[in-house]
Amino acid sequence: MLANAMHEVLQRIDNASHAAKRPPPRLLAVSKTRASGEVAALAAAWRARAGAAAAAFGENYVQEAAAKIEALRGSGFEWHLIGHLQSNKAADAARLFDWVQTVDRPKLPPLLARHRPDDRPRLNVLIQVNIDDEASKHGCAPAEVEALAARISGQPRLRLRGLMAIPAPDPDPARRRAAFAAMRGLFDRLGLQHDGIDTLSIGMSDDLELAIAEGATMVRVGTALFGPRQ
Ligand SMILES: *Cc1c(COP(=O)(O)O)cnc(C)c1O
Repeated sequence: MLANAMHEVLQRIDNASHAAKRPPPRLLAVSKTRASGEVAALAAAWRARAGAAAAAFGENYVQEAAAKIEALRGSGFEWHLIGHLQSNKAADAARLFDWVQTVDRPKLPPLLARHRPDDRPRLNVLIQVNIDDEASKHGCAPAEVEALAARISGQPRLRLRGLMAIPAPDPDPARRRAAFAAMRGLFDRLGLQHDGIDTLSIGMSDDLELAIAEGATMVRVGTALFGPRQ
């Protein structure tokens, strides 16, 4: 089951990249609500299909992730926080994760930097942008990206890698695609202003082809790999 799903998702990514004439994006497997045993099983299927590529998992809740990261310690997996980060969880997030994709306000960079342990590499950070969802309170406005990026790059324990967005679910593919294209524009501009910008995290199970067409370098996939969440 997991092996088939992994095969299909990697095939979709390859096909979409080929059609778009772009390098294939990294896959982030979204493991929220999944037990550590399922995570390990998916990683085994991934290794069998994709060789030595490091398995990377996305989690939405710091506490849920803490238990899984502990249970899977030593496996060499890379862990990404993709859920909203409350300030009172920033210290735990800085200790646990390899990446935090949801930095969306000026308060977070100094908090994450202060708590990043000295014996770990710099924490990789993406800025979450609220590209089109007026109802969502999460993500910074496009006009705030520049100031937030400057604040992150001023922190020696953080490493700014790019942008992330969760566009509003819209049945109209043209509107979703427009949101991804707007993200690509912001991403290209950020790359002119900062070194080391290499990650545009857009696209999920339903719309990864649209995101790849607009230049996603990372897609975050849960349902298409693990099946529907209960
Ligand atoms: C749950 C989640 C995903 C994965 O969504 P699927 O539709 O299950 O692929 C991706 N990104 C974020 C931020 C999520 O919360």
